[in-house]
Amino acid sequence: MERDVNRVTYEEERRTCADAGHPELAATSEEASDNIYHNALKSYDEAARYVDMPNGIYEMLRRCKRELTVNFPVRMDDGSVKVFTGYRVHHNTVRGPSKGGIRYHPAVDLDDVRALAMLMSWKCAVVGIPYGGAKGGVVCDPCEMSERELENLTRRYATEISILMSPEGDIPAPDVNTDDKIMAWIMDTYSMHRGYSVPAVVTGKPISIGGSPGRGEATGRGVMFCVREAMKHLNMPVEGSTAVVQGFGKVGSVVAYLLQSKGIKVIAVSDVKGGIYNPRGIDAYDVVRHVKQTGSIMGYRGCDEMTNEDLLELKCDVLVPAAMENQITVRNAARVKAKVVAEGANGPTSPEADEILLDNGAFIVPDILCNAGGVTVSYFEWVQGLQFFFWSEREINVRLREIMVRSFNDVLRISQQKQVNMRLAALILAIGRVAEATQVRGIYP
Ligand code: NAD
Repeated sequence: MERDVNRVTYEEERRTCADAGHPELAATSEEASDNIYHNALKSYDEAARYVDMPNGIYEMLRRCKRELTVNFPVRMDDGSVKVFTGYRVHHNTVRGPSKGGIRYHPAVDLDDVRALAMLMSWKCAVVGIPYGGAKGGVVCDPCEMSERELENLTRRYATEISILMSPEGDIPAPDVNTDDKIMAWIMDTYSMHRGYSVPAVVTGKPISIGGSPGRGEATGRGVMFCVREAMKHLNMPVEGSTAVVQGFGKVGSVVAYLLQSKGIKVIAVSDVKGGIYNPRGIDAYDVVRHVKQTGSIMGYRGCDEMTNEDLLELKCDVLVPAAMENQITVRNAARVKAKVVAEGANGPTSPEADEILLDNGAFIVPDILCNAGGVTVSYFEWVQGLQFFFWSEREINVRLREIMVRSFNDVLRISQQKQVNMRLAALILAIGRVAEATQVRGIYP
């Protein structure tokens, strides 16, 4: 479908912003590729051209519904009080309560949170689970904070955003630098204010307080299912093929050992400190043990060390960026040699890099499909929490596989029917579902 001429696209808005004196929104292409919000808008504009929806709905889905910024004090161990800034953004709540992780990072800003909230709306719609998109973040460096300071920060931030958070309205989860312990503090803080336990207010909790079996591995497991489907589609033999995984955290470590368990040779992995490489293969399970003992993958025996930049350019069959956004950009995309790029992280590839990878013949499994296993099992956890009725890990993994395999093939079908790449196909599917739900509900009042 042709784009309506009245719609203002990303490129047009950029020019208008420059004219109107908003340099922060008027970034050049190179700068824009470093801003994941600009990238999210650009991808939205491209996909929205294929979705039959009125202009008003197009405009509505292009903006975040609510954006909360909170500045709040935290008592530090030395007795001083430090003020932190946090965010919680709801992009869309038409298909259900908003869902999205909370990130603790020194560089997180409102644009990052907006972009990640928008990606969550599309992700939930791609896999067909009844949620809208949200994201949260606090500007902080958890590595520089004690456990007590982190708990004080978490409990105060949870209180500040509790005007948005609830099992029916907005359900946070872990993201970069947040984990099950932090989710437990959020659940406890919220429950203390209510006067009774409310397990369904967060997902990614410890099992002892209503967490779900399989949630810890779910994102990585979903990535593994997508890699297998992609290889099947491309007629690539699994046995003897090679994989490189960037980021060895909650997502990357699981992807690495699950790919290994399926017969794929993991030849390199990395964390924020750098990468390790062994062309004969690395035992990812053993690296997990090494990380538990030492805090990093570095120093693992029998491997060469390399930078994260070099790691992304290694010759391999499957590359899984599972660290941060904007790792593959115009600066390095031409040197990426992987046949399949499976995006474990959110937004690891800039739109310009996307084109270069596709021109070079890579098959990209886009983030909103590839890493949707996490939110899928979060949904299972939420349902179990609401019902106080728990499923076995086997049931969870079987249902996860069903959803991931079905969603991969839904996206592949659209990509073949419309002759577009997988990212565009996934966005067309997701935006179409959210637009349809919006039109069916109608505009209030
Ligand atoms: P994490 O904090 O557990 O792990 C992040 C890993 O990346 C760590 O090994 C860290 O050392 C490494 N890292 C950080 N900066 C890096 C850099 N510049 N270069 C190389 N490595 C770097 O986080 P996570 O939960 O595994 O999340 C990773 C990505 O996956 C994020 O983009 C996140 O939004 C996305 N994601 C996570 C989930 C989930 O369930 N955890 C779900 C969907 C998407």
